[in-house]
Amino acid sequence: MEFRDLKKQYQVLKERMDKAVFEVMTDCNFISGRQVKELEEKLASYMGVKHCITCGNGTDALSMMLMAWGIGEGDAVFVPDFTFFATGEVVSFEGATPVFVDVDSDTFNMDPVSLEKAILAVKAEGRLNPRVVIPVDLFGLPADYDHINEIGHKYGMKVLEDAAQGFGGMYKGRRAGSLGDAATTSFFPAKPLGCYGDGGAIFTNDDQEAEYLRSIAVHGKGSFKYDNVRIGWNSRLDTIQAAILLVKFDAFIEYELEDVNKVAAWYTEALKGKVKTPVVPEGCYSSWAQYTIQVKNEEERTALQQKLKEQGIPTMVYYPKPMHEQTAYKDLKPYVPCSNTVSLCKTVVSLPLDPYKGEQTVRNISQFINDCCCY
Ligand SMILES: *Cc1c(COP(=O)(O)O)cnc(C)c1O
Repeated sequence: MEFRDLKKQYQVLKERMDKAVFEVMTDCNFISGRQVKELEEKLASYMGVKHCITCGNGTDALSMMLMAWGIGEGDAVFVPDFTFFATGEVVSFEGATPVFVDVDSDTFNMDPVSLEKAILAVKAEGRLNPRVVIPVDLFGLPADYDHINEIGHKYGMKVLEDAAQGFGGMYKGRRAGSLGDAATTSFFPAKPLGCYGDGGAIFTNDDQEAEYLRSIAVHGKGSFKYDNVRIGWNSRLDTIQAAILLVKFDAFIEYELEDVNKVAAWYTEALKGKVKTPVVPEGCYSSWAQYTIQVKNEEERTALQQKLKEQGIPTMVYYPKPMHEQTAYKDLKPYVPCSNTVSLCKTVVSLPLDPYKGEQTVRNISQFINDCCCY
């Protein structure tokens, strides 16, 4: 069994996909072809955001947005302790300091109470300047934006939505990608909308920011490519990847997003009462980048993963280590306790999930988990 069945997806989309890729090869418009522009327009309109700027990957997208806001040395950027490394890494890469915030153990997302405590602790210390909050839409579920935006703005900060896993999710009628002051996403193959390699995008309503981002993505270009007005770098989405994404985006809005929600609902129904299933708060809609359950403790998780593996059922642990325990961050000062994160890292396990899984498959996996986890 595949953890996320990209092979099946390709078989279903093969005819359209092959045609789209061959077209790019025939036209040889490999960089900045018309498919890139078409994709940017479609995604911006899907999100309800004025500008979509595609780029090389989701990590570059985060970095470039921090560059656009002038984030650097002496600045504090608040990120969840429970996330993929890139969310904190980009902050350090820009010379600023990541401050790790605990998450809610039901939603896995940034806890607004912990956020405010961390901001106050940083302010009280007086060494760093609080500038940006990066909430992550973990596993496809949008974070608590009403509270996070309110807190962020109260302290004069910007909110950057890391929607790398959140593409397609919704919060109170608004799409992920439109929930902060700006947002980024990733098209890494296993994300809700993935390409066949690396890719990413930035979303903003601000014209000046958009212009700056388009400039730094192409060597700080000015009015044309060989007019360089600032120091930038090279981070673009390949035309082939844009062509692939156009095919996948159609499938995503036609049926994939709905279908993956069905698969998640089958799991929740079948696992109810046996393990802790993921919580989707009122007013939220998840795009289910992962279906993540919680078991009692680390021993039970190891045993469960082993037993499922023997049945040919793959599982993954996202994430086994809090950000503050990463070796790269061993010298960083903690501002708030992150006990929920510490405990989640020991008890979470993600199950096989994609829009192409059938009800019987989900029932079989769930049955097996229910037989294993008897407490
Ligand atoms: C995947 C991911 C990223 C980075 O995206 P890449 O395209 O792999 O660079 C950033 N943040 C989160 C939360 C992610 O899951």
